[in-house]
Amino acid sequence: MSADKPSLSEHADAAPIVSIDKLHVHYGAIHAVRGISLEIPRGEVYGFIGPNGAGKSTTIKVLATLIGRFHGSVHVNGIDVADHPHAVREQIGYMPDFFGVYEDLNVREYLHFFAAAYRIPRQQRKTVVDDVLELTDLTHKIGDQVDSLSRGMKQRLALARVLLHDPDLLLLDEPASGLDPRARIEVRELLKALTEMGKTILISSHILHELAHLCTRIGIIETGEMVAHGSLEDIYRQLQLMRIVHVQLTDADDTLIQKIGQIDGVSSVEVQVDRFAIQLREDHTAVEDLHDALVDLGARIHMFQPEAMDMETAFMKLTEGKTA
Ligand code: ATP
Repeated sequence: MSADKPSLSEHADAAPIVSIDKLHVHYGAIHAVRGISLEIPRGEVYGFIGPNGAGKSTTIKVLATLIGRFHGSVHVNGIDVADHPHAVREQIGYMPDFFGVYEDLNVREYLHFFAAAYRIPRQQRKTVVDDVLELTDLTHKIGDQVDSLSRGMKQRLALARVLLHDPDLLLLDEPASGLDPRARIEVRELLKALTEMGKTILISSHILHELAHLCTRIGIIETGEMVAHGSLEDIYRQLQLMRIVHVQLTDADDTLIQKIGQIDGVSSVEVQVDRFAIQLREDHTAVEDLHDALVDLGARIHMFQPEAMDMETAFMKLTEGKTA
């Protein structure tokens, strides 16, 4: 491209794809991001977690080159975001938390419009659009109006859009919020496929368990500061997360209860009036795997209800340093 493009020597493969050092962002008197530093190695899925207003979107917008005024140093693929925003834009696919309104556009028109905006040559556009539609499983919706799609399909379409120019880094702001469980699983599967294609993903959420089994690294931020970060195991160790799953079984006997207690990751089984409270270490075993293990033991499940693990609980554990 232009003089905007830095030399290739800056793109060493071993270098982190995202590198943020002491980032500060102010909106007038509001100090929204207060000294965040983080690095994301290539190929990782980095979960950026924090309650509403913590500064996740602001940090992501800085990486997306949408906020010009900030302090600190921010690099994508070794390229300085402040000095070379245009070069950075070629490396990233940014999906904002708000989809926008696209009246009177069908899926084909929508994607061709963005393909043109990304300056993909006209003769390549059809192939590229077909490819991203296939990847996001939206080929059958090509003629549908964008506004008529379900929220889950809109999210997949938004992902299709940010994949058009084949970026190395995907910046996804709350892609799973407001989705029903099925759509959430679909998004999760899609993100998995993208990491297998070698993409690096930064994904934000205010719900820890929404990202827990998707991410290879997690950063938890609160009021503009990073309060915990590391691999999922590090975070679980710091938070000492223990999930309670309430279960009602028909025909449960002592042998079965004893076997449940021996499932990997189960730390205790408490017999209550009409149910069991199973304590599960989620760093060992996912809730879904506990369900499978119960079925494998021949348990007839009448009710299976994991307690919600929300940010508030997680933060309380983090700040109090207590075990659940
Ligand atoms: P959410 O999940 O609600 O989007 P977030 O973690 O992404 O939360 P930000 O949107 O980055 O948080 O907001 C961080 C702080 O900056 C909040 O106090 C917010 O009110 C404020 N803020 C964000 N955007 C603006 C803006 N354009 N003008 C003024 N203040 C802003």
